[in-house]
Amino acid sequence: MTIAVTDRTQTHILFPQSAFEAVALAVRHQAPYIAGATALQLSWNKTANWPTQAVALSGLSELIGCKRLASSWQLGALTSLAELANNSALAEYMPLLSQAAVSVGAAGVRQLGTLAGNIGFAGDLMPSLLVLDTQVLWIDQHGRSQQQPLTQWLEAPQPQGLITALQIPVPLAGSITRMEKLASRSAFNPPLLNVASLQCWQEGQLQKLRLAIGGNAIQPSLLPISPHSLPLQDSRRVLNSALRATLDSILPLGCAQRDYLISAGAKLLCDQLSPNLS
Ligand SMILES: Cc1cc2nc3c(=O)[nH]c(=O)nc-3n(C[C@H](O)[C@H](O)[C@H](O)COP(=O)(O)OP(=O)(O)OC[C@H]3O[C@@H](n4cnc5c(N)ncnc54)[C@H](O)[C@@H]3O)c2cc1C
Repeated sequence: MTIAVTDRTQTHILFPQSAFEAVALAVRHQAPYIAGATALQLSWNKTANWPTQAVALSGLSELIGCKRLASSWQLGALTSLAELANNSALAEYMPLLSQAAVSVGAAGVRQLGTLAGNIGFAGDLMPSLLVLDTQVLWIDQHGRSQQQPLTQWLEAPQPQGLITALQIPVPLAGSITRMEKLASRSAFNPPLLNVASLQCWQEGQLQKLRLAIGGNAIQPSLLPISPHSLPLQDSRRVLNSALRATLDSILPLGCAQRDYLISAGAKLLCDQLSPNLS
């Protein structure tokens, strides 16, 4: 991204007529996309550097809207966090997403902030989107439509890749989903830690288990576990120690407050997985 001006009034905002034109403009000018601009304005104001050009997505109605498909939901990139928090049909199938959206900022921020912007910011929704097996629909820099799991999108973020929508499978019957956010907030402080989990039990058997973490200093990611790799029926102490070992294996060594994050993350996930374990 080219950051070239120190006077914000010099930034030239480009208004494409379609998602494909947005990509073409972003590539031609090496310009960032602006959705709600709630995250971008934080970083631009902080550094007092603004891009010479930016591509506004707000006029692209094709990026708006939540659709129920046969076995999934398709959520437009520009879906606001307020819509995610308040859409009762969506909440019926995916309460986790509504809960995660409500945890972001204050009401005004949720009116402006968008789903794709939260991915671009690596915000609070990430762990929940990861445990829900989210697919990203996007347009690459050559104008080709693409689809890939969010995990892959995060591994190799595409320059000027434009997210157009997310597709999220409806969790199977018997699924239990939970999320928790750990933050100190006198003003806006990015969260220390976000954790989310999805367990799917059928006929007393754990069929599927997904755990994910994210946070200010943490690359959002799924934990490398399978339904049978954690001692869920054992004591709380044993489960906690297995979760600590898993977190220890994925958090970078230089990560700030690493020991605290491992200990808090293991406790929060332990509470989500086996609230009744002693
Ligand atoms: C006071 C305040 C409090 C906040 N609190 C929280 C909080 O508690 N939790 C939290 O997670 N966030 C918080 N935020 C950050 C922000 O509001 C959210 O993360 C929001 O979801 C960002 O969405 P946006 O549309 O405003 O993104 P933008 O600021 O427009 O964009 C963010 C990034 O995403 C990229 N992007 C946007 N749309 C697309 C797209 N379609 N395809 C590809 N890239 C795209 C942009 O280029 C940019 O890099 C807060 C912000 C403020 C100002």
